[in-house]
Amino acid sequence: MTRVFSGVKPTGHLTLGNYLGAMRRWADVDQHQAEALFCIVDLHALTVDHDPARVRRLSRQAATLLLAAGLDPDLCTVFVQSHVDEHARLSYLLECVATDGEMRRMIQYKEKAGREQARGGSVRLSLLTYPVLMAADILAYGADEVPVGDDQVQHVELTRDLAVRFNQRYGLTFVVPRATRPAVAARVMNLQEPLSKMGKSDDTGPGIVYLLDEPDAVRKKVLRAVTDSGREVVYDREARPGVANLLEILAACTGGNPSDLSGVYESYGALKKDTAEAVVEVLRPVQERHKELCADPGFVEGVLRDGAERARAMARPTVDAAYRAIGL
Ligand code: ADP
Repeated sequence: MTRVFSGVKPTGHLTLGNYLGAMRRWADVDQHQAEALFCIVDLHALTVDHDPARVRRLSRQAATLLLAAGLDPDLCTVFVQSHVDEHARLSYLLECVATDGEMRRMIQYKEKAGREQARGGSVRLSLLTYPVLMAADILAYGADEVPVGDDQVQHVELTRDLAVRFNQRYGLTFVVPRATRPAVAARVMNLQEPLSKMGKSDDTGPGIVYLLDEPDAVRKKVLRAVTDSGREVVYDREARPGVANLLEILAACTGGNPSDLSGVYESYGALKKDTAEAVVEVLRPVQERHKELCADPGFVEGVLRDGAERARAMARPTVDAAYRAIGL
């Protein structure tokens, strides 16, 4: 059976981008068709300035939201990265096959390090090596597929390179994984800055729809989305990124196709109104289930405890084999 691994970082409140680009597919497709592991990658939350209590709180919230989005612990494994030592153990070995040059070429590193420096802050070494830890996350489980949004495709490519290099040099140890992308909404953009992705970590408020936003907050954000001075609703990502983003969100929420939908609307106002309602409807069941789960914190605890145990049992043989292969 195909094995699937994916993760979410507890660096902020989860967004509509996380849901449409990743979580929904994990729940609707991956957990049914594959042996799937979904991880709250809390070690990755330490690569930028962080507040310890907030990371802990957001990890728990992310776990609760993954379950609210439909992940079923009877069908898949949900766990927290730091509960399983194998990630850090393997990451060090992979640092010994990765190069400084390939780390510095990562687009996300350049963007995030640039932002830190612009703020006058220093760049943590872990921000540079973060893709290696991500490679360890994936390779430890022998995952065949990694369902991710567009922003993570480069990191999965790096993971493949490291797996191939390790296997060639030290003997066949790792499965070489591939990235899989959702058909629509691979990249949900910020409603206020449609050239940047809707990322939970960059707290730019009004352009981000959070999964726990009240319906009225969702409506307000979508109705105020930046478009352009044109009138005609056409689907053109380059020339009309704001409108294209709304069409993609609407398509992802209703199961339609962005080009076809563009023909249905005669004004931006009508498009925004329908998009807002579609988003509210998509979030409703997730929010209801989230409320139920919050009333039963022991359940989420139990899921994470069992998940870590299962994950550990899966990762240990591969990581032990990698230690032996590399000469330890
Ligand atoms: P973030 O960028 O929000 O910190 P994570 O790295 O935790 O996101 O990503 C969790 C999953 O959500 C990944 O598979 C990522 O590709 C996907 N994802 C995040 N933001 C978006 C977005 N705006 N559009 C589509 N997918 C996204």
